[in-house]
Amino acid sequence: MSLDTKYEDNNIFAKIINGDLPCVKIYEDENILSFMDIFPQTEGHCLVIHKKAASVNILDMPTDALAEVILIVQKVARAATAALSPDGVRIVQFNGASAGQTVFHTHFHVIPTNDGMPESNHASGSPHPTEELEAVAAKIRAAL
Ligand code: AMP
Repeated sequence: MSLDTKYEDNNIFAKIINGDLPCVKIYEDENILSFMDIFPQTEGHCLVIHKKAASVNILDMPTDALAEVILIVQKVARAATAALSPDGVRIVQFNGASAGQTVFHTHFHVIPTNDGMPESNHASGSPHPTEELEAVAAKIRAAL
């Protein structure tokens, strides 16, 4: 998928927004949804997306939608760090397959990090058990 690829309505995150696929939710308002990454690289790895901006990447995202989503990225990052007390938190956002993007609906990763702790590979392996994701999500939600 190149940088100027067209938005496809049937991508995984569009299906999550529509309720056609489940997610372990952290935060939702009229425009924004945050949920646990199903292949977490670390404990607390979650994603933040805009529900109404049909954008593939940061380059084609309307600036008002980008402003809305980044505010919630900060809110979720604050909650994740308050809940999990990591050593750091990585905010990541990939644009184009060449850059590592695998889902073509603009999203931000919030990835708590800990010194010396191994991390799983990006978007690979087996889906994490829902109960485990839910247990971590509950801690983050409580800190929102
Ligand atoms: P990216 O590679 O930056 O496009 O990120 C896509 C992310 O979505 C990866 O970290 C995947 O682990 C994650 N992911 C893929 N499918 C799902 C899903 N059904 N629910 C939650 N996260 C997912």
